[in-house]
Amino acid sequence: MKKIILAVVSVGLILCGCLHRSDTIGTDNDNNKMIYRYLGKSKVEIGVIGIGCGCFEKMDTTESRIYMDSALRNGINYIDIYDANPKVRDNIGYALKGRRNQIFIQGHIGSYWENGQYKRTRDVAECKASFEDLLTRLGTDYVNVGMIHLVDSKEEWNEIKGSAYMKYVKQLKEEGKIKRIGLSSHNAEVAYDAVRSGLIEVLMFSINPAFDLLPADLNAWDSTSYNNDLTNIDSTRVKLYNYCEEHGIAIIVMKTFGGGRLLDAETSPLGVALTPTQCISYALSRPGVTCALSGADNVEELMAGLHYLTATDEEKDFSTALASATKACWKGDCIYCGHCAPCPADIDIAKVNKLLSIAKMYDENEIPKSIRDEYERLEHHASECTQCASCESRCPFAVPVRDNMKEAARIFGK
Ligand code: SF4
Ligand code: SF4
Repeated sequence: MKKIILAVVSVGLILCGCLHRSDTIGTDNDNNKMIYRYLGKSKVEIGVIGIGCGCFEKMDTTESRIYMDSALRNGINYIDIYDANPKVRDNIGYALKGRRNQIFIQGHIGSYWENGQYKRTRDVAECKASFEDLLTRLGTDYVNVGMIHLVDSKEEWNEIKGSAYMKYVKQLKEEGKIKRIGLSSHNAEVAYDAVRSGLIEVLMFSINPAFDLLPADLNAWDSTSYNNDLTNIDSTRVKLYNYCEEHGIAIIVMKTFGGGRLLDAETSPLGVALTPTQCISYALSRPGVTCALSGADNVEELMAGLHYLTATDEEKDFSTALASATKACWKGDCIYCGHCAPCPADIDIAKVNKLLSIAKMYDENEIPKSIRDEYERLEHHASECTQCASCESRCPFAVPVRDNMKEAARIFGK
């Protein structure tokens, strides 16, 4: 299949005499175990594990090429390049030489290099210089996703919506230098506003079990520390993920491992260590997510992340670890882990909970047809629930499944 895609791409490229403006991915690798998902509404298939650019700062060109070889050979076809550091860009350009069309590039607009340091900017001249530099150093004339770089406050989002900066971003899209517009943020409220603006096709967002939880005591919340007690899932994040899933906005996950902290019980804000496979599994189970970026610094770490692709269901299961977290508590929120199965009525409980959660974002007479249709397509519906409660005894997070089934049956009518 992949070879067919490559052949079609190659013929297309030869016919149009242009090796650089295609927004399609080709690969000569048929043997990888990569799992692919569509990038939002587009029919482009993206591997569920992607790479970031941080590692390229510590490498030389040869090491960069070897790292990229490993990534491509294992079916990775998505890279985020937020860094304006010329060394990073040169290394990636070298690593991709002759195979630009095998990877989707997400490049940032507003990341600037000045006096040997990174800075975030909305100055159009600086953005332009930095973006042109990115293309030159990568040896290409477009990126597949042009990211509005890091917007973390509502005030800034409101300011840039009608700004010269935004005009420049749109101009890049019209010129074909970016194929779609994305936005990166760590702030759920900003991201939720942004995805509803109609401007954003791809959202780069920080997702992991710790970030998804709320501080137990908002008054005692210390944003500079990881030592807060955490409890229950942030409802804005739930709305954000559901909105993205429903509207075909692809989420690219950053901070999958919480900067490595989640992998160590000593540093984890949850008080329990997760494995890379569990972190990736968690990120990919959130609605709307296309791809989780691996922050791997070297080939060994990259391979550890790729173990997800061949991991057993037990290895992927994050719910048991989360349920044993000593510094965090989930109570009543479904995290779609599937631990409550089997249901004697064969109801897909996680799926019903997910659709119910999306439906509850709307007034009942305004629930989108697509959500109702998806519910209709389920083989078994919530009305078939016998209220046996066996699911609740297996759910580690005290989700009131029986009540949810009653509510879903009422809302969806079956
Ligand atoms: S109801 Fe509980 S066990 Fe079932 S999917 Fe949700 S969180 Fe997991
Ligand atoms: S209570 Fe309902 S949803 Fe849960 S296992 Fe029993 S029949 Fe299935």
